Amino acid sequence: MDNAESVLPVNFIQNIITQDLKASKNNGKVHTRFPPEPNGYLHIGHAKSICLNFGLALANKGICNLRFDDTNPSKEEVEFVDSIMEDVRWLGFDWEDRLYYASDYFEQLYQYAVNLIKAGKAYVCSLTADEIREYRGTLTEPGRESPYRSRTMEENLDLFERMRGGEFADGHCVLRAKIDMASPNLNMRDPVLYRILRETHHRTGDDWCIYPMYDYAHPLSDALENITHSICTLEFADHRPLYDWCIENVDYSGEAWSRPQQIEFARLNLTYTVMSKRKLRELVEKGFVDGWDDPRMPTISGLRRRGYTPASIRDFCDRIGVARRDSTVDIALLEHCIREELNANATRVMTVLQPLKVILENYPEGQVEWLETENNPENEAAGKRKMPFSRELYIEREDFMEDPPKKFFRLRPGGEMRLKSAYIIKCEQVIKNDAGEITELICSYDPDSRSGGPTSGRKVKGTAHWVSAAHALDVEVRLYGNLFSSENPDEEESYERVLNPDSLEILTEAKAEPALAELPAASKYQFLRQGYFCQDSKLSRPEKMVFNRIVSLRDTWAKVSRA
Ligand code: ATP
Ligand code: MG
Repeated sequence: MDNAESVLPVNFIQNIITQDLKASKNNGKVHTRFPPEPNGYLHIGHAKSICLNFGLALANKGICNLRFDDTNPSKEEVEFVDSIMEDVRWLGFDWEDRLYYASDYFEQLYQYAVNLIKAGKAYVCSLTADEIREYRGTLTEPGRESPYRSRTMEENLDLFERMRGGEFADGHCVLRAKIDMASPNLNMRDPVLYRILRETHHRTGDDWCIYPMYDYAHPLSDALENITHSICTLEFADHRPLYDWCIENVDYSGEAWSRPQQIEFARLNLTYTVMSKRKLRELVEKGFVDGWDDPRMPTISGLRRRGYTPASIRDFCDRIGVARRDSTVDIALLEHCIREELNANATRVMTVLQPLKVILENYPEGQVEWLETENNPENEAAGKRKMPFSRELYIEREDFMEDPPKKFFRLRPGGEMRLKSAYIIKCEQVIKNDAGEITELICSYDPDSRSGGPTSGRKVKGTAHWVSAAHALDVEVRLYGNLFSSENPDEEESYERVLNPDSLEILTEAKAEPALAELPAASKYQFLRQGYFCQDSKLSRPEKMVFNRIVSLRDTWAKVSRA
């Protein structure tokens, strides 16, 4: 990968790894994994986990696996598996030949469960799900032992085999670990290890009608893959004793395994964003957005379509750091990261989003001048290009006001404004239709006011972007706002009710300078004064290009962080 060099990241997990390496723990190896469940598309929170797991491996000369935790066939699909691989690669990480699936271990996991039964550490329980919950007790009351807890090993082996054989209906019974119903940790009160579930699995088909629980499959998958540091989010802290129990109590039947350490970190929350896959899935299924890759979605595919780059997302993940305490990151920081990158790299072009026709009454009909303008003032090497200038132009509707307030420094009747890289124009006459709407402006231009011309130094307060009408490309421009109008949609009674009705604005009349058609389709641009844009990979066509605004120019993060 390009720029996650071996600079050691500064965070508490790196500190643990550094100590482990010093103590030659795990034979001096670092082996992490990213373990998504293929039940949705990855989001920016997953990016944090990906950058952390792959990043720590890279920084410590270790390796990182990609493993699908595919233990719940009712919600999982191949489409999700494919999208996850695409997204991890796109972020710039490589699992090489280490692609695994928890389902690869189903046979082993079954055998280990049999071994647990033989060791008296697991039993088949015929309580209903409700009864199991009732028997579990609460944080203040101990649980009660299931009446099936004392089943003999022979009976348990027989029942478990028949569970696998399909003799029982879904939910008829479960396999539970025999740990401690009085444990202060509810996860240790004889947790369920296997349930009966007749669902076709996207990889194992109908081979199985029993499936291991995540809390059982996950630690053993880690142990079998020789993971050294099993990094997960905070909500699993309470599961850690069970994680360790599984790893230590299973008889691996002679198979190689190792003892990983689970380390928890705070998940990423972003303002104005929901991050749970369930909610993202609902947004897609209920049609609130145009698919998982809608440019307003916090998914990796949505951010990619919006125009974010892998480097900007990695930069964001670096800056938010890794902590042990939950917090919410301002979405303005994410925007700041891409803005900073594009400010340095994006080609500047002129596009008028809401055009108003301007006719220069003193400019010769039929004349076209090709005026030079810079591609990126931040980067001289980006060079210059030429823009056609002619008698009929478009300017931004909001750059003219008939009756402006005092501080309005753009065009007004009788007033002047400079056209960027071109001339100063003066508004001579306002033309309206029958409805009283302004349809065009008759202006004059000062032929001496071009750069280098005798009046080029003349002081005019406003400078605007423009395009030549005859040469303009008709384009569509899409402006985005936050998907939610509430800063913390998860805390609202219904996140659907705080969907921002103005999160998408479609401008179909926009006019762009012709250079836009010649630049590579994947380019990112700054539309002067309007923000950073890219073509929408789904909707853009050669005959009608569609552009997404990635971010506006206004950096609210820089403001916040200076304050
Ligand atoms: P969700 O609760 O949204 O369904 P999940 O945690 O169940 O998400 P997984 O596919 O199991 O999703 O996640 C894969 C990995 O990504 C896990 O290690 C998980 O801890 C991590 N992860 C998920 N969401 C976040 C987040 N918001 N911030 C950081 N890491 C996350
Ligand atoms: Mg999960």
